[in-house]
Amino acid sequence: MSVCDFGALSIDKEKGLPVVDEEKCTSCGACVNICPRGLFEVRPLKDKRVFVACKNTQKGGVAKKNCKVACIGCSKCKRTCDIDEVVVENSLSYISPKIDADKYGIDLVKCCPTKAIVGINLEENKE
Ligand code: SF4
Ligand code: SF4
Repeated sequence: MSVCDFGALSIDKEKGLPVVDEEKCTSCGACVNICPRGLFEVRPLKDKRVFVACKNTQKGGVAKKNCKVACIGCSKCKRTCDIDEVVVENSLSYISPKIDADKYGIDLVKCCPTKAIVGINLEENKE
């Protein structure tokens, strides 16, 4: 929070995790550079999004033991959408911001056994 000159960062007290205020964030990258866990990434601000909300590179069983929503590197996402925008390495999946969330988003969210894949504004998420 102290490196963000724009007041865009706060901590969700319930989850104990940082939250970015998208209205205030200028994509300066200071949080990306300072986080010792490498949790931040600057991604284009798109209405529809799909991403892996995990940076845990521990092997599947260990990751699962430590966090029930961790990516366990099972590669189901890669098998579901065998495209360049989905990469699984070191027991961790990464979904590029270049992915067509409209086309692949719902399938990716549904296929993940741990719910590590998050979708925003995908059609089936709208109530
Ligand atoms: S990218 Fe810059 S403005 Fe945005 S949350 Fe990180 S430090 Fe703050
Ligand atoms: S399906 Fe989920 S748990 Fe499996 S590799 Fe992909 S993001 Fe990780």
